[in-house]
Amino acid sequence: MGLGGGFKVDAKGQGARAVSLFFQFITGPFWKDVGRCKRCRKYFWNRSGHDDKVYCGRRCASAHTAIRRARERRLKEYESKLAAVRQAIGAFERLSADRKSREKHTWKGWVANAATRECSPLNVTSHFITLAINQNKLKLPVGIGK
Ligand SMILES: [Zn+2]
Repeated sequence: MGLGGGFKVDAKGQGARAVSLFFQFITGPFWKDVGRCKRCRKYFWNRSGHDDKVYCGRRCASAHTAIRRARERRLKEYESKLAAVRQAIGAFERLSADRKSREKHTWKGWVANAATRECSPLNVTSHFITLAINQNKLKLPVGIGK
């Protein structure tokens, strides 16, 4: 197992001595400075002085940051799409009664197109609208049944 900072315990070949060293290590004063990386699960020796260090090094920390940023970006995109769909549903509801009744069975495609125009380059599909309705994030347009 790698401990970072060039400190390594290799149990292979060294046998009992390594085990004994390891035991001394985990019962010794350094153990409180040993952390386990949240990402790669390796143990690391925390010499930063911060108790809350959770990653073994910059590589794992920045990989995690990249994942978090991607997640935040997806969430933001989702919210933008939702807002665009709400607007498009509002526009649909304002159509003439005549037009609305003609679009009754195609309203979802209509709304998806209008929403996509609103939040391009993001793409809103009918499927997106169906999912959002099923998750109670959106209400059906007035006068439209599922
Ligand atoms: Zn790591």
